[in-house]
Amino acid sequence: MTEWGNALVELTLAYLPPLPRSPLKAGPETGPEEVLFFSMISSLPAIPTARNLLDLTPDQARKALVEWVAEHGLPSYRAGQILRRLWQAPVESWKQATDLPAALRAELDQVFPLPRLAADTIQQSGDGTRKFLWGLTDGEAIESVLIPSGSRRTLCISSQAGCALKCSFCATGRMGFRRNLTPFEITGQVREIVLHNPEEKPTNIVFMGMGEPLLNWPSVDAALSILNHPDGLGIGARHITVSTVGILPGMEAFARRPEQFRLAISLHAPTSSQRLTMMPIEKKYGLESVLKAAEAFRKRVTFEYVMIGGVNDSEADADQLGRLARRLGALVNILPLHPGGAPDLTPTTANRIRAFSERLRNQGVEAVVRRSRGLDINAACGQLRVEVEKKRGAEKSVSGKRDSTRSSSRTQ
Ligand code: SAH
Repeated sequence: MTEWGNALVELTLAYLPPLPRSPLKAGPETGPEEVLFFSMISSLPAIPTARNLLDLTPDQARKALVEWVAEHGLPSYRAGQILRRLWQAPVESWKQATDLPAALRAELDQVFPLPRLAADTIQQSGDGTRKFLWGLTDGEAIESVLIPSGSRRTLCISSQAGCALKCSFCATGRMGFRRNLTPFEITGQVREIVLHNPEEKPTNIVFMGMGEPLLNWPSVDAALSILNHPDGLGIGARHITVSTVGILPGMEAFARRPEQFRLAISLHAPTSSQRLTMMPIEKKYGLESVLKAAEAFRKRVTFEYVMIGGVNDSEADADQLGRLARRLGALVNILPLHPGGAPDLTPTTANRIRAFSERLRNQGVEAVVRRSRGLDINAACGQLRVEVEKKRGAEKSVSGKRDSTRSSSRTQ
């Protein structure tokens, strides 16, 4: 652990129990007799099937609860009380919802169990940035990064396990695509933080963790509703940013949402030929078509621009980027390359980044150089999972033990 430096505290939390399985689902531990039994009873009604309310938008969850409460002859106000416990005043389990009668809580446990994300690893950087590695029930792992800044707490969340895009500078791209996240697995990253400490509820959300959100639109669509809805997490739409390389069908669907959500385009290069060397997606959705789709968004967009020495940081690059930004009225977010994401690439020097952003400003473009946060904890996209898996691999080959990282002790 000393490699992380003294400023870093690594906590490894206890694993949470796996989700209860639906009583009608035959799983790997189900014997042939049970399968036979289940198929015999499957025609009978009134066997409750567990349902994950946290995967539903607040409107869908309210509808499901109103129906369920009516079917059970409960007073109608119970639906609102139960709904509040999903996102607004969340509970770890129904046992904690002490405003509800004990018998109802026991029933809710069976019918609507509340799943969790397992906090496998939490890393605290010297600059206050905190990085979480969440374990999912199928063994996948995803990351979130909480970045405090004054009264703002921005949470960077993942939308996929792994990523198919293979951008040259990105650690997640290296691990390849694993699977899409469900709406709950996306919004659960926020819920877990609120459960841990309601005072730390994020004020801003950016979809800049693992994965490409617009390649998982159905889940991201539902997640946006959960994040923004007053019966959900109630985070203002202007405080929620979806970041994309420019997946055109997803951009069109996102533009149709009526709320004022923000769009960030990972541009990273001012010309198509340069972009192609960094981002294979350029072949499918070229720079010009992405810019056109961003214009159709009709709200101010942000360009993200990661600065890589000798690749995209010349004066000519600044001038061409300036032209594109002026055309769209876009804000440019300049990101110093996080070295952990791309050991074979060189970050642009601080002096050069300053000159580059000055040159943009001289063209009338609003350009902000983002401070590199959490440098000591590999806070760029995908790096913690890569690091943990590397350690696991090394420990496995030494001791033959499984999951040794998860049981590592607290270090300071
Ligand atoms: N797929 C989406 C969202 C995930 S990546 C997208 O590409 O926008 C979010 C941001 O992480 C990207 O814009 C990229 O700038 C940043 N990123 C990835 N690897 C990085 C690295 N090594 N250094 C700095 N930023 C990085």
